Amino acid sequence: PGTGTAVLEIRDLAVHYGGVKAVDGITMTLAEGGISGIIGPNGSGKSTLVAALTRLTRLTRGELTVGGTRYERVRPGRVPGLGIARTFQTVRLLGDLSVAANVQLGYDARSRAERRAPLRGLPGPVAEALERTGLTDVARARPSELSYGTQRRVEIARAIVMDPRLLLLDEPTAGMNAAERVEISALMRQLRSEGLSQLLIEHDVQMMLDTCDHLFAMAQGRLLTEGRPADVVADPRVQEAYLGK
Ligand code: ADP
Ligand code: MG
Repeated sequence: PGTGTAVLEIRDLAVHYGGVKAVDGITMTLAEGGISGIIGPNGSGKSTLVAALTRLTRLTRGELTVGGTRYERVRPGRVPGLGIARTFQTVRLLGDLSVAANVQLGYDARSRAERRAPLRGLPGPVAEALERTGLTDVARARPSELSYGTQRRVEIARAIVMDPRLLLLDEPTAGMNAAERVEISALMRQLRSEGLSQLLIEHDVQMMLDTCDHLFAMAQGRLLTEGRPADVVADPRVQEAYLGK
């Protein structure tokens, strides 16, 4: 896709659970600095692909390369150090901690050596991540006091405080209303303008059209097609597999 360099390359990736071929021979290149998207019906293997990219599931076969480094054999704990950060399909925040403290957890994960960073004044990268995601004003609030959409932004802040080269977002707008979805799309495009490469998994086709530079369509663990978002969505095979038309 495109002519730029690749931030991540996936070659012939397969993840089989017994007889279930959750991912079954996927080859993808994610462009540096862009927002790539994956669409596909429930059960088509999108979350399994993300789990494979973060080394949280065993690969049946395949090669993964990030920033020029092969990493399909590294331990999951080394993935953040390779510059890959993620958010989860369901919100995972610590309710008893403030927004700032939740974001600082991501900062602490970045480097054990920095774990003794001062707790009173926020470390510079934490303050910066809060600023970039528009959370400075609610930094001392608890997540439970905030809207679902704002909680999602806290998760994105917690991921980008690691200064990743690639951010993986698995259904970040699940359970959101239309206004909150527009907000997340705008935040992703802002982060792209700041140079952050992203991979978005999402059901909302309009959000994908509004947000992504490049789309991949999956069905039954395989890649159906890829290309410009409008072309992919209009593809008859995608319409049939994904949109049921
Ligand atoms: P999607 O995210 O596209 O909805 P998933 O990656 O969650 O799809 O699931 C793909 C397929 O793999 C489904 O058939 C699912 O039931 C199966 N699957 C996912 N995770 C596991 C697992 N840990 N063990 C067994 N089967 C799994
Ligand atoms: Mg999923």
